[in-house]
Amino acid sequence: MSKAYPITLHTYDAVVVGAGGSGLRATMGLAESGLKTACITKVFPTRSHTVAAQGGIAASLGNMGEDNWQWHMYDTVKGSDWLGDQDAIEYMVREAPAAVYELEHYGVPFSRTEEGKIYQRPFGGMTTKFGEGPAAQRTCAAADRTGHAMLHALYQQSLKYDSDFYIEYFAIDLIMENGECRGVIAMNMEDGSIHAFRSQATVLATGGYGRAYFSATSAHTCTGDGGGMVLRAGLALQDLEFVQFHPTGIYGAGVLITEGARGEGGILRNSEGERFMERYAPSAKDLASRDVVSRSISNEIREGRGVGANKDHMFLHLEHLPADVLHKRLPGISESAKIFAGVDVTKEPIPILPTVHYNMGGIPTNYHGEVINPTKDNPDAVVPGLFAVGEAACVSVHGANRLGSNSLIDLVVFGRAVGKRVPEIVKSGATQKALAEGYADMALSRLDAARYASGSTPTAEMRLKMQRTMQNNCAVFRTKEVLEEGVKMIDEVAAGMGDLKTSDRSLVWNSDLIETLELQNLIGQAVLTMHSAENRKESRGAHMHEDFPDRDDKNWMKHTVCWFDGKKVTLGDRPVHDFTLTEEIGYIKPKARVY
Ligand SMILES: Cc1cc2nc3c(=O)[nH]c(=O)nc-3n(C[C@H](O)[C@H](O)[C@H](O)COP(=O)(O)OP(=O)(O)OC[C@H]3O[C@@H](n4cnc5c(N)ncnc54)[C@H](O)[C@@H]3O)c2cc1C
Repeated sequence: MSKAYPITLHTYDAVVVGAGGSGLRATMGLAESGLKTACITKVFPTRSHTVAAQGGIAASLGNMGEDNWQWHMYDTVKGSDWLGDQDAIEYMVREAPAAVYELEHYGVPFSRTEEGKIYQRPFGGMTTKFGEGPAAQRTCAAADRTGHAMLHALYQQSLKYDSDFYIEYFAIDLIMENGECRGVIAMNMEDGSIHAFRSQATVLATGGYGRAYFSATSAHTCTGDGGGMVLRAGLALQDLEFVQFHPTGIYGAGVLITEGARGEGGILRNSEGERFMERYAPSAKDLASRDVVSRSISNEIREGRGVGANKDHMFLHLEHLPADVLHKRLPGISESAKIFAGVDVTKEPIPILPTVHYNMGGIPTNYHGEVINPTKDNPDAVVPGLFAVGEAACVSVHGANRLGSNSLIDLVVFGRAVGKRVPEIVKSGATQKALAEGYADMALSRLDAARYASGSTPTAEMRLKMQRTMQNNCAVFRTKEVLEEGVKMIDEVAAGMGDLKTSDRSLVWNSDLIETLELQNLIGQAVLTMHSAENRKESRGAHMHEDFPDRDDKNWMKHTVCWFDGKKVTLGDRPVHDFTLTEEIGYIKPKARVY
């Protein structure tokens, strides 16, 4: 195989796959610590999905009212519906202010208060005084283009360091040897050349897998490639059944309208003009957490109070807000509403619908970013040489449901954490033994098979089948019947993957080939999402199971872990970390859900 595809070998101390917020922050930290570092990315760094983040990044700076990390921690634990690991959550919220100030110093042009401090807006689920006080203004924002500002600043900063960027290189598979990760195989998409990156530490920062669904706010590049590589390496993924639907995707287009729109005073109304969130969440109202708002919208639609000709969506009203607020704080979404819904937000409401937005599940890690593959004896067993950060990872700080603005902070906090951890484990410039013979065989035979695939189903058709199955059978409302049917259907799609057909045989910018490799990454995660959802007989966070409407802490306070070898699904579980890093706050005990 390596005769048909000659391999160029590169040797690094550390390799990061992904140049979104988490990948860039990790790359910077690793390079800064003196490790010879490479960053591989399939899109130009500033085109990573992080660029699309709008609303902001959470940190208890207290610039616009009293705040502290303990309150941020409480909200995050509660938001996670008690499935988050509390040691990791404590780490994130305590490090958050320092991480945001660091971004400020890197040049992120945050919006400002009158006194010149970083502007902070309220976001769903963010409260004060352990949920007893008013909404917290905790979400630091650069207008409604926070991710854009952040990603550009991080990329500019990363160029200061001595790291090598491999841009428009597609990582195909990990190089695994006796349970240890020794690097990654990638293809340069421009000329089809194959590159092996031998490395003491490999960091997956490949983002989410939103594109397993038909309607998603995430970019078409969010195909869970890291998760796919991990599954093929025989390692576990965790908590995939928890898929977050953002309440306000533009109807028809899926494009996001940030929660910041409601943070600035936007409200949802049904076909009767009723502000229905007052009924579902009397205190938080339109700013209840995303799972609650998404379910409430779906319920209103199901009960016949949807808007539009088919009564199948809802209205988000901003027209009562002063035009200068819209202009200053929400310019991006004003533009999106115009382009994608033909709506002038100063005059009319925006048609919206809950849309897949974020994957709480992913590659299990501890709070240092080290990848975990649980064994019988050790639920926290670390995979040597392998790390994961960002949306690709499941630390788990978001548990069953992520609070808005807690992802961007997760990216930078854990990107930094990996930058600190790896240098503790590996030695700069240490000699690395030769890679075992046939180390690239799996990657190259898969590549070759996809390139010459001559079945009867084009990649796009197979992808659509998968996406429709996920959208119909694994969405906001889930029942035993719908999920059981979904398991059958998605298994059928997976079984049909051998029948793929590609038509472009070249190696130069072969998008047919790349999309096929991406679909192979998506399908494993789609299958496991459906199976894990069918398996979890309770409702928690984003997983709302109508036949089991209550949270069941006795039987289900545990992470799902899952494996997929291309044919067989294996499900297991792993305890939730019910301990904190310090005693300052201590374990936050589960409480009944009150909205
Ligand atoms: C529209 C939208 C708005 C959002 N708004 C907010 C917000 O306001 N606040 C908040 O906290 N969160 C928000 N989120 C969530 C948050 O933005 C994402 O979770 C986060 O940006 C993901 O960052 P990441 O670093 O994990 O990966 P990404 O930014 O998705 O980047 C993935 C990287 O991996 C690379 N990659 C992937 N596969 C391969 C491969 N096979 N080979 C090589 N490279 C590869 C890509 O090139 C890319 O560089 C939003 C998400 C969306 C979709």
